[in-house]
Amino acid sequence: MVDILEQVYEGKAKKVYKTSEPGLYKVYYKDDATAFNGLKKGEIHDKGYYNNQISAILFKLLAEKGITNHFVELVDNRSMMVKALEIIPVEVVVRNIVAGSLAKRVGRPEGTELSMPILELYYKDDDLGDPMINEYHVKALNLATEEEMKTISEMALKVNEVLLSVLKPMKIDLVDFKLEFGRYNGRVLLGDEISPDTCRFWDASTKEKLDKDRFRRDLGKVEEAYQEILNRLRTMPITIAER
Ligand code: UDP
Repeated sequence: MVDILEQVYEGKAKKVYKTSEPGLYKVYYKDDATAFNGLKKGEIHDKGYYNNQISAILFKLLAEKGITNHFVELVDNRSMMVKALEIIPVEVVVRNIVAGSLAKRVGRPEGTELSMPILELYYKDDDLGDPMINEYHVKALNLATEEEMKTISEMALKVNEVLLSVLKPMKIDLVDFKLEFGRYNGRVLLGDEISPDTCRFWDASTKEKLDKDRFRRDLGKVEEAYQEILNRLRTMPITIAER
């Protein structure tokens, strides 16, 4: 029996607790929602439940496909056990379709398909507003080694391939997403969450947004979008998701 000990961290969307087992943390997903680096604040009813379940399904799937990650097991509706990573302060964004900050930066309309995925790096620092950086910054600032960055880039592109292939039959366009990685026993593992908070998902037919952009842009039907993503993921063949 693992005991839940003191909280070690509270972020914008999650709380992290130590446990009696070394190297094991409990993550609790909150309903709190923020956007624009914390300037817009609100709550999305049952978001914690949806993001916990969605992340669990996707982490299990990725582990099946050889992408090692921090997920251990679900604890309850809103919590999961994870391996305690030493987080690498580099946010990795992968994009398949132009949206959000990329649309502004390169002056292309949202929805423009990219001829190949784009991988971007951001320095994880809320006070600085997560500025964009490149591999030189990562190395020169000792955020990660060259070898770690090579692993991270390969893992991020593999995550993209796996997610694209499972979401396509569910009629979900994977527009872009953000990943975080960390060190565990000298290895790089995928961490954080994979949810409508951190991914852009569009309905493949109607192009309706099924992610946090509904909150960011006041589009309404926010929790319905999160629920829709969970419902579609639950149609994944049991042989893949539950083995
Ligand atoms: N993203 C995230 N956390 C951040 C910034 C971005 O999870 O702090 C995700 C976002 O949900 C989207 C992708 O990364 O799926 C690309 O975001 P973008 O750079 O377009 O920035 P945004 O328009 O969200 O400000």
